Amino acid sequence: MEKQELLYEGKAKQVYATQDPGLLIVAYKDDATAFDGRKRGTIQGKGAINNRMTNLLMARLEREGIPTHLVEELNSRETLVKKVSIIPLEVIVRNIAAGSFSKRYGVEEGTVFDAPTLEFSYKDDALGDPLLNDDHAVALALASREELALIRRYALTIDRLLGEIWRACGITLVDFKVEFGRLEDGRILLADEISPDTCRLWDAETQEKLDKDRFRRDLGGVEAAYIQVMERLAKSL
Ligand code: ADP
Ligand code: UDP
Repeated sequence: MEKQELLYEGKAKQVYATQDPGLLIVAYKDDATAFDGRKRGTIQGKGAINNRMTNLLMARLEREGIPTHLVEELNSRETLVKKVSIIPLEVIVRNIAAGSFSKRYGVEEGTVFDAPTLEFSYKDDALGDPLLNDDHAVALALASREELALIRRYALTIDRLLGEIWRACGITLVDFKVEFGRLEDGRILLADEISPDTCRLWDAETQEKLDKDRFRRDLGGVEAAYIQVMERLAKSL
């Protein structure tokens, strides 16, 4: 399958059409952005790591019963995926308080929740991805109640499965963001990516941050952290 026209260029990936109208090629870039694109940079080697990591994790989730967009990894940066119509919700699951949750509610980063907490943001850069609840999502016709219930169920299962995978690598899954999309027949699939760009991953022993927060907060060692999580995952699978 070959790349045809560039359909979309996002902050971290390019999306290309293919000869098959039901399939797309996603190409992962080394570009990094944070704070609604106000901070920009490059994380050398990130594209290849995020491509491989997303595919390893999605293949595992698929085996465990979560339908995903993954078709086939084509090369180090590119993957063939099923084309979906993305539901414009950032589905965020948190196990430990961090980032915007800590800031918004004044909770110390590192506070462990009794149970995972799920939230939705409206995926709209111009609006700054505002937080929204189920009623808002229904009012905006982003998804039906039934779809929201299914998305919630998938997201919590993904949290349990990813938590187990990362625990086996000596890494704590603090939080993550996923996106879902609809096939033409309405079936919902996990799409986009799962990587240190979209998850908070802390070393289980030292609590050292091994994710994009190293870039967001200028902590240094960004590339080394991405390489380390990838190596730990590859060894554990
Ligand atoms: P952003 O749009 O936030 O800058 P990216 O640079 O990661 O993000 O761009 C990738 C885009 O492709 C995102 O908008 C994402 O929602 C979309 N996408 C991911 N998987 C699929 C898919 N299977 N079908 C259609 N679009 C997808
Ligand atoms: N996240 C993401 N894309 C976004 C917003 C958040 O991948 O546009 C991820 C982020 O990496 C973290 C989780 O979702 O793993 C929760 O992020 P949070 O709401 O704390 O926002 P942030 O601190 O990134 O502003």
